[in-house]
Amino acid sequence: DPTKHKDWEIAEEAETRMLTIYQVAEKLGLTKEELLPQGHYIGKIDFQAVLKRLKDKPNGKYIDVTAITPTPLGEGKSTSSMGLVQGLGKRGKNVCAAIRQPSGGPTMNIKGSAAGGGLAQCIPLTPFSLGFTGDINAIMNAHNLAMVALTSRLQHERNYDDEQLERLSGMKRIDIDPTRVEMGFIIDFCCQALRNIIIGIDGVNGKSDGFMMKSKFGIAVSSEVMAILSVSRDLKDMRERMGKIVVAYTKKGKPVTTEDLEVAGAMTAWMVDALNPSLMQTLEGQPVIVHAGPFANIAIGQSSIIADRVGLKLADYHVTESGFGADIGFEKFWNIKCRYSGLIPDCAVVVATIRALKCHGGAPVPVPGKPMPVEYSTENVEWVAKGCANLIHHINTVRKAGISPVVCINAFYTDTDAEIAKVRELAEAAGAKVALSRHWEHGGEGALEFADAVIEACEEKTEFKLLYELDEPIKDRIEKIAKEVYGADGVDYSAAANTAIERIQKDPELSKLALCMVKTHLSLSDNPTLKGVPKGWRLSIREVLTYGGAGFIVPVAGAISLMPGTSSNPAFKRVDVDVETGKVKGVF
Ligand code: ADP
Repeated sequence: DPTKHKDWEIAEEAETRMLTIYQVAEKLGLTKEELLPQGHYIGKIDFQAVLKRLKDKPNGKYIDVTAITPTPLGEGKSTSSMGLVQGLGKRGKNVCAAIRQPSGGPTMNIKGSAAGGGLAQCIPLTPFSLGFTGDINAIMNAHNLAMVALTSRLQHERNYDDEQLERLSGMKRIDIDPTRVEMGFIIDFCCQALRNIIIGIDGVNGKSDGFMMKSKFGIAVSSEVMAILSVSRDLKDMRERMGKIVVAYTKKGKPVTTEDLEVAGAMTAWMVDALNPSLMQTLEGQPVIVHAGPFANIAIGQSSIIADRVGLKLADYHVTESGFGADIGFEKFWNIKCRYSGLIPDCAVVVATIRALKCHGGAPVPVPGKPMPVEYSTENVEWVAKGCANLIHHINTVRKAGISPVVCINAFYTDTDAEIAKVRELAEAAGAKVALSRHWEHGGEGALEFADAVIEACEEKTEFKLLYELDEPIKDRIEKIAKEVYGADGVDYSAAANTAIERIQKDPELSKLALCMVKTHLSLSDNPTLKGVPKGWRLSIREVLTYGGAGFIVPVAGAISLMPGTSSNPAFKRVDVDVETGKVKGVF
């Protein structure tokens, strides 16, 4: 009973009867060779073998799960994705999902795991939350190796003249500008002390202690290598992308890439196994593919193109999740992921909760780790109705992509009938299919209405269209996203952003990359405190970065750090192990 038990207690109990990974693989239709087991309950999928074997098989239905603008607590997108898979499973459909691997940062800080919740979760929970099949470790090694190449190169170019460089290692001087190093190191925790650092201390005089300069750490899941894992179609594509990461600029202003540093091959070597997606199961035994990482506000935040290609070949219904609200996650799914994969979605689910709608309608914003304000346990139809403006905005965004929106009201047991009826009325009036779903309380049985709505929506004709073309000027494209997806009146640029855009616009290759916006997920605007549908505001672009390998131009709106901080009451305080059994307690 999820009203009495914690998510991890439910998972732990279900894990006593879960399928072995061999049984999950059989359900998904993998051959023995295509499953690469890692212990009894998790494994990886040899994606190349699957795609080769099934290259002539038509794809299944492709469903994206997105949401309204969330509160800081999350609105149950992962929970609803698992609920939908379980509901489709109860309807006898051959189904699978692709979700993202959680980051150690939030798991040890605030949010818990990302495996869903209540009776709609994926298991086994502990390995999933703590490193899983090692992809993020591989990403850290690949990424940090580029920093090893860069920092050692800076030292060697300082210590030796051109002739010595040539004689010692056949190296030609690149002449990197140490004040224009774009890349930093990564670690998969939230560690504010590493945001701005000085490295190579003593390296000025002691010539073998590195090159002293300012540097930084980001959280691993924000790495360009993670983005490359999300968008690569295969190993060849990944190898090419890996060499195009811009690490720094030369003193003359020329980009220095990982290929220039002769490290791209070795970086890819660390990533070969990570390119195979991982496999686990829902509480009710349906297969769940896990690949790539979270954080759509500062990264692409999508499960991978490879995971979706595999899922669409193996299942009749493939559910994929994109991070945060439709302004962020769905926009990137639509204009980056689908553009690069060529896959066309059949339907998009917009998850809404009464609590988030109340928050958009005027209730105080809930704070993680603090008790819920009382406003959330008492009926208030007026707030809900007012908050529906945010839901309708996201419904219209999905419709701009030419696909059918299905609103899933992810029911909490504190919601009242009148509040739910109001959401139904307003969302249906806005032209969406609406389903109430009680998967958190009842698992797949509670998600039948939701599953039926999705099945129906998948039969409708889609006229999928991208929001912008890659040859449109960069500023026109940013303006389209700002106005049509965020509801801004226009866009303002800092001097640095203008200079960067001018430079990128002149480059025939860089100027044709897709946009990967960096913006808060807590508001449609760039100000996290503005709820509902903010009006009369302009989007502020502070800087514009390029991710040559992933293939993104990255306009950064507002002040967002690529390294989150850890709070004063972090989740790690509640995690421990039973030293007799080795079981981990308190990860949720
Ligand atoms: P998101 O993917 O949108 O960030 P999650 O699915 O991770 O959100 O859910 C966030 C939290 O809310 C989890 O702790 C989950 O257990 C809880 N939750 C989700 N749906 C419900 C629900 N219907 N009732 C109660 N709690 C829920």
